[in-house]
Amino acid sequence: MTSSSPNIALIRKVSDLRQRVSHWRGDGCSVGLVPTMGALHDGHLSLVKKAKAECDRVVVSIFVNPTQFGAGEDLAAYPRDEKSDRSLLDALGVDALYAPGVDEIYPKDFSTMVQVEGVSEGLCGAVRPVHFAGVATVVTKLLMQARPDAAYFGEKDYQQLCVIKRLVCDLDMDVRIVGVPTVREADGLALSSRNAYLKKSERLIAPVLYETLIEIAEKIEAGGDPEQLAALGREKLLKAGFRQVDYLEVCDSVTLVPVSVTAGELRILVAAHIGKARLIDNVPAKGPA
Ligand code: AMP
Repeated sequence: MTSSSPNIALIRKVSDLRQRVSHWRGDGCSVGLVPTMGALHDGHLSLVKKAKAECDRVVVSIFVNPTQFGAGEDLAAYPRDEKSDRSLLDALGVDALYAPGVDEIYPKDFSTMVQVEGVSEGLCGAVRPVHFAGVATVVTKLLMQARPDAAYFGEKDYQQLCVIKRLVCDLDMDVRIVGVPTVREADGLALSSRNAYLKKSERLIAPVLYETLIEIAEKIEAGGDPEQLAALGREKLLKAGFRQVDYLEVCDSVTLVPVSVTAGELRILVAAHIGKARLIDNVPAKGPA
């Protein structure tokens, strides 16, 4: 096969996706789904590789979901390159690329939104009020359309992963949700499609985000106070050149409620703006044994 004739199927319609997946199921194959918004990088590809390792057939979806962007956010500017994404996926042996149009996902009379309470409300949910309802709605639809055995999500978007685990449990969906560790650049910056917004000088500052999280995780392990450390971390980011910190919190790793004492499994999560980019990141942490 030459590079001009990819093996990967390109699917635009829900009905075609359903047909293909039921054909696979009829053959006794397990199915993995990797939902993305495209502009694929090695972070996305690590999800694809995990899905390939665990499932007989893999579908990757690419859909820049308008309902998860608030007014004034970067929906129009969000990077899109379906051709290059398709050949990256083809090279990894992905079976199908599902790239529906907006009208296929949200037809004219569409009127249902999925709202996950609690875990959606703090952190990114507090500063992006429509975001997680948009994510929960589109992920519910994708899971119902593809009916995979397993669906793969990055820990990079840790709150999103928690929201999806909650919704799958609450709605009795028969799918295994798999969290995949964050892929980073050599200097620690988490890979993200939005890193493309960074100017050279901003790119040099951006790794301070991860550095700060790691520092806090180490101090928490040594018995430090989570609220105090979070406040110091926020200051450090502003001093380094971030123009705004939406949040930096030490939270319970399941409920994402900020903690004042270190008990159990914790997650340190941050969102901060530098130039035109809003970067998010997170790391696990644990108090002293
Ligand atoms: P997105 O295209 O940004 O919606 O991301 C699609 C999926 O890829 C989500 O589950 C993300 O959490 C995951 N992802 C994005 N960046 C990374 C990364 N650096 N490492 C691992 N997974 C990632």
